[in-house]
Amino acid sequence: MYYKSTRNSDHQVTAAQAILAGLAPDGGLYVPVEFPKLDIEWEEFSQLSYQDMSFVILKPWLSDFSDDQLREAITAAYNAKNFDHPSVAPVRKVGRDYFLELFHGNTIAFKDMALSILPHLMRAAKVNCDNDQKILILTATSGDTGKAAMASFADVADTQIIVFYPKGGISSIQEKQMISQKGDNTHVVAIFGNFDHAQTKIKEIFNNQEVIGQLAEEGIQFSSANSMNIGRLLPQIIYYYYAYAQLIKQNEIEIAEAVDFTVPTGNFGNILAGYYAKQMGLPIGNLICASNDNSVLFDFFKSGEYNKNRPFYQTLSPSMDILVSSNFERLVYHALGEDSEKLVELMRELELSGKYTLAEEYQNAFDGFLAAHITDLETKTEIRKVFDRDIYLIDPHTAVASAAMRRVRETHELKAKQVIVSTASPYKFPEAILSALNINIEDKTDKQALQLLQDIIQSDFPRTIHDVLTAESKHYLSVEVDAMTETVLDLALKNT
Ligand SMILES: *Cc1c(COP(=O)(O)O)cnc(C)c1O
Repeated sequence: MYYKSTRNSDHQVTAAQAILAGLAPDGGLYVPVEFPKLDIEWEEFSQLSYQDMSFVILKPWLSDFSDDQLREAITAAYNAKNFDHPSVAPVRKVGRDYFLELFHGNTIAFKDMALSILPHLMRAAKVNCDNDQKILILTATSGDTGKAAMASFADVADTQIIVFYPKGGISSIQEKQMISQKGDNTHVVAIFGNFDHAQTKIKEIFNNQEVIGQLAEEGIQFSSANSMNIGRLLPQIIYYYYAYAQLIKQNEIEIAEAVDFTVPTGNFGNILAGYYAKQMGLPIGNLICASNDNSVLFDFFKSGEYNKNRPFYQTLSPSMDILVSSNFERLVYHALGEDSEKLVELMRELELSGKYTLAEEYQNAFDGFLAAHITDLETKTEIRKVFDRDIYLIDPHTAVASAAMRRVRETHELKAKQVIVSTASPYKFPEAILSALNINIEDKTDKQALQLLQDIIQSDFPRTIHDVLTAESKHYLSVEVDAMTETVLDLALKNT
């Protein structure tokens, strides 16, 4: 199994090399040279544990990893220490639809699904590549990746991680989770800008030859924990299969029956993993791309034009406040028939003018994608509606997806069963949720708001919430976007 860069189809590497590098040297993203196909005997397969299913699904993608390496990584990631639900990713029937709960990991957002295994895949990749460099992970976060990445890389030998987050652009709990992170090898930096600024700058730093050279002198190389790293994407394929298996097991669907998934989307990593699952043979009907007011993807699916020249909105679903969805490059590359020259042209247009249009002849690849966008007001209404009707509390990101699915169902005849991908625990967003339920929280501290929420949910606080309420904040920097490069060098070289 080999991977190639979206910007140069001739540049091919192994899975281990792709995972260590994060981003291809030409600035492209790694994609499979060919999609592995799985031929599944569902009767048996649907009985597998999350761990055993992970092995079957990851194996063809990571053919250069030994069975032992893979099993070790899976066991180290998906266990009772890291996930508070025995089935890791339960599906819950609510009304006539289903919620796939991906928030039972350590940091209570779906980023844990991939980031809990990524450090173990990287360690194995280093062995396979005979690589004894220290790894410096740079990560931009829209709120959830940062904490999940730090939690999983904390105190991992020969690894440092620097997380950049938009100051004022994430929820108060998300911020507290990050700045209370332990581990001398973890660094948190607030930037005066938004997620797109952070992500674009990091891509630039990754390809800055001067910086690469300076770090190399100290035996350090970059990698990424963002979903531009294929090592983030592959573990996300697993839960699409696992969700489907649970529907079979619970007699909700027949084998081979198509199922639709609605995915609350920001950087397009989660939904792309769904597309990859479909390419492997999973009977997915539609993938519904749910956006908040930053509706650049919705507009693309409608018109074929990707245009980031628009206002950037801070919404109640901050982890989706993104205008440049980096994984979309992968889908566009597949749509172009994997023509990297054409892809490079579009990406250059995006860089120069902030937009590009995909010619109609290439748009077939998007059959099977539907889209809707949901305002903050509609998000709150959805939280309240689902709670009143089903006594089930969803976070604002999940509410965007839930409302988007309903909107699409009003206009399209959706025959399949609908799975809504639930990406965060309500405990991460007490303010937005309480205000959706018309509970006044003016003058309330985070702690009081969390307790009000607990009275409604009636479940114990997840551990990370205990930590937030008790932990000391660590020292963190706030810098301008232009100072990010310097900050990376300072932090990286100081610690060698
Ligand atoms: C990251 C995130 C998303 C968006 O996922 P992408 O893979 O970036 O599209 C949605 N919801 C939550 C809670 C997230 O943390």
